[in-house]
Amino acid sequence: MLSEFQGSCHCGAIGFSYRTSIAPEHWSIRACQCSFCRAHDAPSTSDPAGSLEFTASDPDLLNRYRFGLRTADFLLCRECGIYIGALIETGKGRFGIISMHALVEAPENLAATEPISYDSEDIAERVSRREARWTPVKTNL
Ligand SMILES: [Zn+2]
Repeated sequence: MLSEFQGSCHCGAIGFSYRTSIAPEHWSIRACQCSFCRAHDAPSTSDPAGSLEFTASDPDLLNRYRFGLRTADFLLCRECGIYIGALIETGKGRFGIISMHALVEAPENLAATEPISYDSEDIAERVSRREARWTPVKTNL
C-alpha cells in the first residue's frame, strides 16, 4: 500500500511529497557522514520504487547548494535555512532523497538510522548509486 508523507522547511516556502509502499520499520535511513549532513544532523531516506515531488511556493526562496563532487543540488530554504532534501539529474532521469527531519510528522516505528560514509566514491560510482537507490522525482523544480 502506497503511503504519502509531507515534508516542509520551517517557514513553509519549500517542501516535498514522498510516496512509498515501504513500511516505516523497513525504511533505509542513512546518516551520511559528510560534513554537510553531519552539520545539519540530517539522516535521509529514499525508495527507488516510490516517487518524490519537491515543491516551492516561492521559487526565489529555493537555494540549491552544491559541494564536493557537485553532482547533486542540496535544497535549502533561503528564508529559514532548513535543508529538506537533495536532487540529482542524470541521463536516466531525476532522483532525490528527503531529509528525515523535514518530515512534517515522523512516522512511528521507524527503522534505526545507519551511519554511512560515501567518501571513497568517484563521480561515476556516486551517480550510479543515486540512480539505483534514490527516489524518482516527478517535479521539474
Ligand atoms: Zn523556509
